[in-house]
Amino acid sequence: FKAESLLSVEGVDVLYGKAQALRGVSIHVHEGEFVSVVGLNGAGKTTLFNAVSNLVPHAGTIRFGGQDLATLSPAAIARAGIVQVPETRELFGDLSVLENLDLGGHHLPKAEAAKEREKLYDLFPILKAREGQSARTLSGGEQQMLTIARALMMRPRLLILDEPTLSLAPVILEQLSKALERLRQTTPITVLLGEQNVTFALPHADRVYVLEQAKIVWEGPPDRFATEMGAAYL
Ligand code: ATP
Repeated sequence: FKAESLLSVEGVDVLYGKAQALRGVSIHVHEGEFVSVVGLNGAGKTTLFNAVSNLVPHAGTIRFGGQDLATLSPAAIARAGIVQVPETRELFGDLSVLENLDLGGHHLPKAEAAKEREKLYDLFPILKAREGQSARTLSGGEQQMLTIARALMMRPRLLILDEPTLSLAPVILEQLSKALERLRQTTPITVLLGEQNVTFALPHADRVYVLEQAKIVWEGPPDRFATEMGAAYL
């Protein structure tokens, strides 16, 4: 008996004109799992996540909680519980940290949103310290944490993180890594992470996929990655 996956991507193809960005890609994410998709620049990670959110036309089948997503709009998919944190941090620069967070929690009753916010301040203490500051004045790393925290305010069933480490300094990377670790210890959450930074992606992952030139070329637990894929990636 194999429980049905929360997210199931089956044989997905994406074409940009003549260029094939995904070729028969299948991945599965079970409830509570942390799954990393590792791939170099241009391998197709962002395209895969955009297919999941129905932001790019694709062939194949994508199911979430048993429901076929083919006919759902990106907004409906977000309401169904898939919250994507894009590579480009889409914060409201003129709004404060607190206001950005509350936008993420706008669907919650006020008291619930406040409780959720406090939980996120525990997870990312720097955001509490910057609460009244406008988002545009935050450092790159702080903005990344705010983007993730705002996504968590939506209480996603599946959180998709697209290269959160992009252009972050090592010390910030470390903070982000610790926050993800604490998140996993304190909250039952399902995460799909796309990364080219393998040293960041592996420690958090229950399972790893490797995406190379539009295809999944490897799948396995992180401890097998080093011996089987390490030569190319570590
Ligand atoms: P990155 O880390 O650079 O975001 P990625 O693994 O997320 O890489 P994708 O952004 O999915 O890769 O891109 C996969 C391939 O598709 C690349 O060759 C890219 O140039 C191409 N591509 C992406 N978006 C488009 C588009 N809108 N039109 C044409 N080609 C595109």
